[in-house]
Amino acid sequence: MKEKLLGKNLDELKQIVANEGMPGFTAKQIAQWLYVKKVRTIDEMTNLSKAARASLAEKYEVGVTPYAGLQISSDGTKKYLFPVRCSHRRGLNLRVAEDELEDGAVEAVMIPDDDRATLCVSSQSGCRMGCKFCMTGRQGFHGHMSAADIISQFIAVDESDRLTNAVFMGMGEPLDNYDNVMRAIEILTADWGFAWSPKRITVSTIGVLPNLKRYLDECKCHLAVSLHDPFGPERLSMMPVQGAWPIKDVIDLIKQYDFTGQRRVSFEYTMFAGFNDTKAHADALVRMLRGLECRMNLIRFHKIPDFPYETSASAVIENFKQRLNNSGLTTTVRASRGEDILAACGMLAGQHSGHPEQSEGSLPNK
Ligand code: SF4
Repeated sequence: MKEKLLGKNLDELKQIVANEGMPGFTAKQIAQWLYVKKVRTIDEMTNLSKAARASLAEKYEVGVTPYAGLQISSDGTKKYLFPVRCSHRRGLNLRVAEDELEDGAVEAVMIPDDDRATLCVSSQSGCRMGCKFCMTGRQGFHGHMSAADIISQFIAVDESDRLTNAVFMGMGEPLDNYDNVMRAIEILTADWGFAWSPKRITVSTIGVLPNLKRYLDECKCHLAVSLHDPFGPERLSMMPVQGAWPIKDVIDLIKQYDFTGQRRVSFEYTMFAGFNDTKAHADALVRMLRGLECRMNLIRFHKIPDFPYETSASAVIENFKQRLNNSGLTTTVRASRGEDILAACGMLAGQHSGHPEQSEGSLPNK
């Protein structure tokens, strides 16, 4: 199998061209073809000599994976399905042996909103975090996506040239695949890459504490944290991660960083009727987040099979929102998008990979 050029940073491209005996400046030219002009074949890199293209093509391919499925919502939201080959190895998986790879399927969702087009991308096939309310979590873990496959989502969608924002909020826990996600963000933000501002990118996590610290130290992109419950035992009953890294520790860490400038932090809170939607929960959230410049997004829950809770009633969500806003915690209710195509993560890939329960209902979010 040929190695993919996609997912390489400029230093690696320089190494490749040096190995091929090509002039150093061609590394930047290749980066341009990959990340700006977004070609699908080496032969399209026409400012490289024919001989150079032929020699590159012996060992390498561009590596864009076309989508294998597409659903379009009546509200314009589009859900793409991609086949991927994933690695179970931690860290960068640029050269892994065949037997370490596993086939999987992931989704990317394009959400149009006036002049914005946000791409919600996946970072793993399946997920090993096991959140009880999540269809992706129920599929189990099939592996880490490579930086090439993460970046490929941005190139393969029909809206590639008009994307304005990205959220790492699709399948998988981005901070569980740290190196590949950071490599993808490097390519998205570098001047030799997509040249996006970090302000256009948000990484969502349930709070993988050690890598969260690295992320906050190393990356200028926005952060979204799946909070869902301020009370430890309740949160643990929904989210096993609470046992390893309690949300209190996650928030204590976040409070050590500055979010009064360009980088923002927000919290996601899915509303489960009679479980986490009381005044006591609202007041505990206010206490927990006091002193932190942040936003809260409330999310309606879409019922999934074999899960005991339903979404809170609209009036309850509205009261919860008011209580938080009145206490100084800026809170909005996230608009549901693409409900008719089950746009929440895990649904299309679940259907594709033959999990019958995935075709019913729709799933919340992260
Ligand atoms: Fe994984 Fe996110 Fe689903 Fe939790 S909500 S199981 S972290 S994909």
